[in-house]
Amino acid sequence: MIRRLIGKLLKRHAGETSVVRRHATRYRGSDLGIHRAELSAAAQRTCETLKKGGFHAWIVGGGVRDLLLGLRPKDFDVATDATPQQVNKLFRRSRLIGRRFQIVHVMYGREVIEVSTYRALATNSQTDEQGRVLHDNEWGTQEEDAARRDFTINALYYDPIADALLDYHDGVRDLKARVLRMIGDPAARYREDPVRMLRVARFAAKLGCTIEPRTRSPIAELAPLLRGVPASRLFDEMVKLLLCGRALDALHELRSEGLHHGLLPLLDVILEQPAGERFITAALAATDARVADGRPISPGFLFATLLWQQVLVRWQERVAAGEHSIPALMTAIDAALDEQADQLAIQKRIVSDMREIWALQPRLERRVGQAPYRLLEHQRFRAAYDFLLLRSEVGEIDPELGQWWTDFIAADSAGRSDLMAAAPKASSGARAKGRSSRRRRRGPRGGDASGSAPAASS
Ligand code: ATP
Ligand code: MG
Repeated sequence: MIRRLIGKLLKRHAGETSVVRRHATRYRGSDLGIHRAELSAAAQRTCETLKKGGFHAWIVGGGVRDLLLGLRPKDFDVATDATPQQVNKLFRRSRLIGRRFQIVHVMYGREVIEVSTYRALATNSQTDEQGRVLHDNEWGTQEEDAARRDFTINALYYDPIADALLDYHDGVRDLKARVLRMIGDPAARYREDPVRMLRVARFAAKLGCTIEPRTRSPIAELAPLLRGVPASRLFDEMVKLLLCGRALDALHELRSEGLHHGLLPLLDVILEQPAGERFITAALAATDARVADGRPISPGFLFATLLWQQVLVRWQERVAAGEHSIPALMTAIDAALDEQADQLAIQKRIVSDMREIWALQPRLERRVGQAPYRLLEHQRFRAAYDFLLLRSEVGEIDPELGQWWTDFIAADSAGRSDLMAAAPKASSGARAKGRSSRRRRRGPRGGDASGSAPAASS
């Protein structure tokens, strides 16, 4: 029935080319298989309060899209005709955020509902010489708000109280066909906001969508526009991409669109260094598995894996030049982070987690005295140990070390003493397989067991 209905409605819209449509297709949510009870209590309460206050309240974006696909939404966003100040007044636990466009965060315990006022079309707004939108703080109608969203499948509005779903751009049709289609003229939309090109890769991978040809074709030419995007925004979008649950697919999508090249050194590293590829593949597969299980992901851990090859290569060079392992590692870390910083601004908090995870790697090799016991108490021990296991999994270090720690963590105090007694005295972790440890100890302070050289690159 729904299909017939859609067919009829499609015919009605045939020939309409204007981006802002006056009429949306109206469905009953329940006819499309979505129900109010599938929303979080917080999302329902937010809509109720807004409507009681005399305003519109529509769940929009990923929340509606994912429900229609039978996926568990990550979070819920609400669109309304109330101004941010009006929203703020209605909810005791809410705050205004954002500079470019003010939105309101309504807090319920740990859950945050993002409420945004309908926005006007970008054509009214200030742009730079490439067409990038600089200010778009004008409020608009719901139709305009729909037209300025990125993809048809992201422009569906669901009112849980009225059981109504509004579709201005045939998003329901595209969702059923799993097609990712940009609203309006794709090239113009990428010029307005180049980040939308990265979003193409994310949604295509996450939802298993094909990219509509008109949506895909301008990307190759416009990819360089990503250079003009502020580094902090690129970082936010990259985090979303990496945590979308299909990180590997998304990165391959980026590569096939030519979006990674020369734009983000991080991605060059990931996709173009054969030595790094296995490590990163293993890391991303682990990340995707955690997302699938609903387990938390630490961005620090994730970025530590993504940039590790950059650190490792430099670390190896310095050690080969005779520097002691630990200071060599610290210098390598600084250099890798500096190089990355210009393009993609990784948040300070995350950078400090990355540093700790890396810096703990040689310490995990010290199995003497009280060192391993002290390490167990370290705040980042777990992350550093997981990181070590990943290195072990790809053959970068001797698997004996990872296994030793696994046993050590599980053992009781007698078992731990036995493991300490049995541990190889010369550190053996970061060694390329088959390489003699004598060779590695030839640095200026080579006899010092407090840190071993990293594996030579293979
Ligand atoms: P996810 O479930 O991964 O969060 P999402 O669709 O909710 O997916 P968000 O980045 O949270 O993605 O954005 C919410 C909504 O805001 C989108 O669905 C889209 O309608 C709109 N949107 C976000 N970013 C853009 C953009 N750069 N250009 C146009 N519309 C956008
Ligand atoms: Mg979202």
